[in-house]
Amino acid sequence: MKVALVGVGQAGGKVTEAIAAFDDRMEFGAVRGALAVNSAEADLQSLSLDTVLIGQDRVKGHGVGGDNELGAEVMQSDVDQVMGSLDGRITAEAEAIFVVAGLGGGTGSGGAPVLARELSRVYSVPVYALGILPGRDEGSLYQANAGRSLMTLAREADATLLIDNDAWHDAGESVEGAFDAINQEIARRVGLLLASGEATEGVGESVVDSSEVINTLREGGIAALGYASAAASDDSADNINTVTSTARKALFTGTSLPDANTADAALLVVAGKPEAIPRKGVERARRLVEDETGSLQVRGGDFPLESDQLAALVLLGGVERSDRIDAFMERAKQAQKAENEPDRDPAEQFQNDELDGLF
Ligand code: GDP
Repeated sequence: MKVALVGVGQAGGKVTEAIAAFDDRMEFGAVRGALAVNSAEADLQSLSLDTVLIGQDRVKGHGVGGDNELGAEVMQSDVDQVMGSLDGRITAEAEAIFVVAGLGGGTGSGGAPVLARELSRVYSVPVYALGILPGRDEGSLYQANAGRSLMTLAREADATLLIDNDAWHDAGESVEGAFDAINQEIARRVGLLLASGEATEGVGESVVDSSEVINTLREGGIAALGYASAAASDDSADNINTVTSTARKALFTGTSLPDANTADAALLVVAGKPEAIPRKGVERARRLVEDETGSLQVRGGDFPLESDQLAALVLLGGVERSDRIDAFMERAKQAQKAENEPDRDPAEQFQNDELDGLF
């Protein structure tokens, strides 16, 4: 799937840079354009991407702190400038646009939904968000910001692929210290997903196509992406269990959103040497994804890749009914109350008011 990426805010820029670098290193050519947008000048300077500084008149290049309402405002004020910079980058060949942002901060949290709305208005290709949820140990401002941003993004983007910052860091390790490793995990998953529809070698009926990614995300809502790999034998008959066990791992331990396994739709991509991919294994793995997600729409396809490994990539669409999203939204609601009324009786804070959208 040929895409343009727009990173908003610090995390958005770094993750966009990591995905573009992975695509480049692997020579996939799926990322056709990438841009980083921020209100903090210093965060843009460290990136090897084209950049746009927004909100200069309001915050003078110093960022919006954790204020995502201000993040939304400065994006709105300067959205024409951002759209102008994207003009040449979103060419006719782009099949989708991804807006990438950390949802717990200010510029990305507030700016990404505004930009997604504007992009959807102007372009006919799907506009997806790649959103990063704060880890559990990050403060209540991050949780509240992410809740409001997610609600608004889910409305404005065609689908929102979520990454939980707690998904891949080891117990005891700080989230900050793990950012680079997490960003590499995101880049590998998203980079492979985008490239999987671009395969040109060994093209056969079983090879996955970009439209299958788009169809899996068609119902909208929240999506998750799992990945796992294992050493493969050259003889496909020996790899049947390898395919089913990597699919299981991708779904349960390698996922970007732990505990989000109930899905409306799914896509299982098996990557590896075409002669090493067992049809029987792929069929079984597909049934496993069907059983475990409860989805009746499980698509599947191969991604021919010169590698000694077999990998399973599982894209889940429509996971918003899962326990993980419930738990997160509940935490965000409590956090919003705590931020608004820090001195209130904690017992009262358990009343179930809805979170407010950003706009
Ligand atoms: P902004 O620049 O105002 O949009 O704020 P940030 O992008 O720094 O957003 C803060 C949120 O993003 C927090 O939840 C951080 O945990 C997360 N974050 C910041 N940098 C990174 C990063 O490089 N990788 C990942 N995965 N998360 C990050």
